[in-house]
Amino acid sequence: MDLKKFRITASRKKKKLTEFLVKLDKIVPVDMPKLVADADAKTWKEVDCMQCANCCKTMTPTFRKADVSRISKHLGMKPKEFIDKWLHKEEDTGDWVNNTQPCQFLKDNKCSIYEVRPADCAEFPHHNKKPFDAYNQTFIDNLVYCPATLQLVDRLKQRVEKEYEW
Ligand code: SF4
Ligand code: SF4
Repeated sequence: MDLKKFRITASRKKKKLTEFLVKLDKIVPVDMPKLVADADAKTWKEVDCMQCANCCKTMTPTFRKADVSRISKHLGMKPKEFIDKWLHKEEDTGDWVNNTQPCQFLKDNKCSIYEVRPADCAEFPHHNKKPFDAYNQTFIDNLVYCPATLQLVDRLKQRVEKEYEW
């Protein structure tokens, strides 16, 4: 995965793809779930998270109480020790997030706590959320972070603009 190339492509496409997703807030093609499923399947044939890990390098997950409890137990730590060592509370949301990026658990481009990783990581990049268009703002935010989201939205845009009155 050439992340430098991805960043250039993402910054070039962000405006048009954002406009598409904003429009998708108001107009939703009738067979949207199938369109998303097709575009998503094609995307994952080309994108390999193991070669990327850009989310772990540049973003932070939100750690819910259950995440802190599960991961700290896995590491043989008390939840408070875990929080004191790695997390802080985000001012605007009150969420527990990482102090630094890349994530402290990323080792050799892999998650070293994969089996017990935060639910937020397990759900990322949220392409399976339903309905898809309820998460348009999340996808807009992630266009410049996640090559899979960039590809998925780009494919959707091309297909919708080709096959629908848009
Ligand atoms: S916990 Fe694992 S999957 Fe989540 S950001 Fe850190 S390294 Fe990535
Ligand atoms: S979810 Fe997106 S950003 Fe994270 S590793 Fe996979 S392709 Fe890369």
